[in-house]
Amino acid sequence: MSEASFVFGEKPIGIDSGQGVTVTDDSGNDYLDFGASYACTPLGHSHPTVTEAVQEQAAELTYVQGSYPVDVRSELYDRLAALAPGDCEKVWLCNSGTEANEAALKFARHATGRSKIVATMQAFHGRTMGALAATWKDEYKEGFGPLAGDVEFVPYGDREAMSEAVDEETAAVILEPIQGEGGVNPAPEGYLGHVRDVTADAGAAFIADEIQTGVGRTGDLWAVEGEGVTPDVVTAAKGIANGLPMGATMVRPWIAENAGNHGSTFSGGPVPCAAANATLETLVAEDLPGHAREVGAAFRESLEGIAAETDAIRDVRGRGLMVGVEVKTGANPVIGGMAMNHGILALPAGRTVVRFLPPLTVTEEHCQRVVDALESTL
Ligand SMILES: *Cc1c(COP(=O)(O)O)cnc(C)c1O
Repeated sequence: MSEASFVFGEKPIGIDSGQGVTVTDDSGNDYLDFGASYACTPLGHSHPTVTEAVQEQAAELTYVQGSYPVDVRSELYDRLAALAPGDCEKVWLCNSGTEANEAALKFARHATGRSKIVATMQAFHGRTMGALAATWKDEYKEGFGPLAGDVEFVPYGDREAMSEAVDEETAAVILEPIQGEGGVNPAPEGYLGHVRDVTADAGAAFIADEIQTGVGRTGDLWAVEGEGVTPDVVTAAKGIANGLPMGATMVRPWIAENAGNHGSTFSGGPVPCAAANATLETLVAEDLPGHAREVGAAFRESLEGIAAETDAIRDVRGRGLMVGVEVKTGANPVIGGMAMNHGILALPAGRTVVRFLPPLTVTEEHCQRVVDALESTL
């Protein structure tokens, strides 16, 4: 069962179409999409530039295997190399977030010749055996073991615990610059820099999982850039092709040079590559990260305004347009009420956090509608 059908279990919403920040259900009701299906449509639904790129590419060459060079894929390699944090300029393409992390973990193990992975409590890295092993929640792991083990979990944000866990046996530390699924938990100031230092000292790889935080969401193209940190591996997916299946593992040369043997039939298919090129080009040309920073700051300020007036809200946190509101009552009733009574879609992050990951094109007016709806629902 999908997470969406869990959230809307009692009143399923069948979605028929989407334009910009709005989706329309099969009874003709409009919803302001502040979940963007888990941050997958940063440009909004059915963006004309992406649609056109996909249609043209599908008509020209829908698919050819990744070992034949094609222009649209070469263009994406170049684009990602130019946009990646620091020198994480060697790129492996895949079809989802979990695969991007799976590759990251494999590359790190091969390049270091070590096996131990350090991950963080509350982390979410995906559902395949390796990424799942580095994911925190037991609920996601129960009955699937043994996973691709040798993972040690440390409290997120705890510098000392990180220093202690990372040693000469550690292949990699994997973490999210802001934990998404785990409750929208931003890394404390200086923490990512500390992780960078500790991993560099131990000869371990620092993998930043930017599958949710990346592609402009937090106000920078990549959240690690906001902290001035260059990891060894950065993974992206979700919004990178505005809704087409695409994942990317971007690595520094020392990892790329000794990454081992890896591949996937659909790696870098021409149609998702065309969508990713169109998405990234538009995102940069329109400075949507800058827009996310500004609108997101105003959004959080308004949310803090209502938080000050009600004890139903425990905390407002996040960066850019990755926003979490911790509510006393539990997230799902609030999300259900906002959907049914106000036509607003949001997501849970754990049991108590209402999470907003809207298209990066939303305006302050859209945000105000959400703030009013949340206030009225609470
Ligand atoms: C969604 C997510 C994943 C997994 O991506 P899938 O495409 O669902 O496999 C991994 N890491 C983070 C941080 C995510 O938000």
